[in-house]
Amino acid sequence: MTFNDLKLIKPISDALQEEGYENPTPIQEKSIPAILQGKDLLGTAQTGTGKTAAFAIPILQNLTEKNIRNNQIKALILTPTRELAIQIEESFNAYGRHLNLRNLVVFGGVKQGAQEAALKRGVDILVATPGRLLDFISQGIISLKNLEIFVLDEADRMLDMGFVHDVKRIVKLLPQKRQTLFFSATFPDEIRSLADSILNQPVKVAV
Ligand code: AMP
Repeated sequence: MTFNDLKLIKPISDALQEEGYENPTPIQEKSIPAILQGKDLLGTAQTGTGKTAAFAIPILQNLTEKNIRNNQIKALILTPTRELAIQIEESFNAYGRHLNLRNLVVFGGVKQGAQEAALKRGVDILVATPGRLLDFISQGIISLKNLEIFVLDEADRMLDMGFVHDVKRIVKLLPQKRQTLFFSATFPDEIRSLADSILNQPVKVAV
């Protein structure tokens, strides 16, 4: 399979070519069509499989095709660490470089001023770690009421790092009607039940 078979819009296929990507990885082949169709997804995948592009590419395409410009956060990617958050935002920047969507990453351990200023300029796609996201929500700086797509990345590491309670608090603040993508390398009971509670008839992809 080639990226051509995935019916990507030209600004995205051009960006992938510029990145030197020739063919989709197995998780990309299986996930991109389902996500483009608006389905929920349960992905069993480790880092290194191309998982980030598997969700970033169809999110960029779906938001571009809807073409809503309301300065509101429409996609949220929740990930456990600052390093992962930065890498994910860099991927959105790379694949979305020919689009007009605004991406931002927020994480704790640094002053919030620069992140807050960027949020106030308007963001379409937000990548965040749980604690800093909750801080911004409690201060009224972030609203998730227009959210369309929620990605929970590395759910099992969220559990290991003690973030599951924060994740559940965040999920309660999301619109009921949304698309949810859930990724984890392993599925201990607590992660399995979290997935069951937040996904709606997901397509299951394991690589
Ligand atoms: P990830 O699993 O998302 O951390 O991605 C692992 C690495 O694979 C990253 O450095 C990506 O830039 C790279 N990558 C992702 N998809 C592809 C692809 N289809 N072709 C070549 N490299 C890729």
